[in-house]
Amino acid sequence: MENKDLTEVIRLRYEEAQSQIAKSAQSAGRNPESVKLVVVTKKQPLAVLQSAIDAGIKIFGENYPKEAVSKMQSLGEKNTVEWHMIGHVQSRKARLVVENFSLLHSLDRLKTARRLNQFAQEAQKKFPLLLELNVGGEESKHGWDASDESHWEALLPDIEEALSLENLEIRGLMTMPPFFQDAELARPYFRQLHRLRDFLSKKYPQANFEELSMGTSGDFQIAVQEGATIVRVGQAIVGQRNY
Ligand SMILES: *Cc1c(COP(=O)(O)O)cnc(C)c1O
Repeated sequence: MENKDLTEVIRLRYEEAQSQIAKSAQSAGRNPESVKLVVVTKKQPLAVLQSAIDAGIKIFGENYPKEAVSKMQSLGEKNTVEWHMIGHVQSRKARLVVENFSLLHSLDRLKTARRLNQFAQEAQKKFPLLLELNVGGEESKHGWDASDESHWEALLPDIEEALSLENLEIRGLMTMPPFFQDAELARPYFRQLHRLRDFLSKKYPQANFEELSMGTSGDFQIAVQEGATIVRVGQAIVGQRNY
């Protein structure tokens, strides 16, 4: 495909996703502008990223710090966009994440929180992030296990310590539910994350858990109906990934 055509295709799919977000938000009595669309470009070649930027996309999500930073560098002057880290971060990659991303969606353990806090302190900034919760309880997924509501209290000591780290700014929660062909089946998991957010907001009225990052290509409409403030959409906008 010519790059110009690719840009047009991406632009159309992006607009389509935006209008689906607006429709879902309205159907749930929500303001469409309360939902941000992050376009996920992991494992996509640079040409796709360039076309997506030409199509007017402003926020990108990446899963692997090294891959992402190398793309940022290759973009050079074209790198005028915002980058979110949405994948698992090993604590030894913490510095790379603090220095290159404006939001981490996927903080999944205290060890990484402490490292991020240390680098943010060195950089004299507050680093914004979301806590990743594993609402489906799947072994293959990262994040604190939040599948069993009767065990939510057990999450509090970790969350309290994360909240106490001075150079981190917790803004909300993120989840990746189990995969279903029928997106409707993901709905209870989105609801679960929303309920957990309400539970934490009540426990820590001073803290800010406003953001709910949930929903991908297959199920973002459902996630928006259930309160997502950020959706992370890859293949439905930029096409299949190269593995
Ligand atoms: C890959 C990925 C996405 C995007 O998935 P698509 O199916 O391409 O929309 C969203 N969130 C996370 C955490 C991912 O790893």
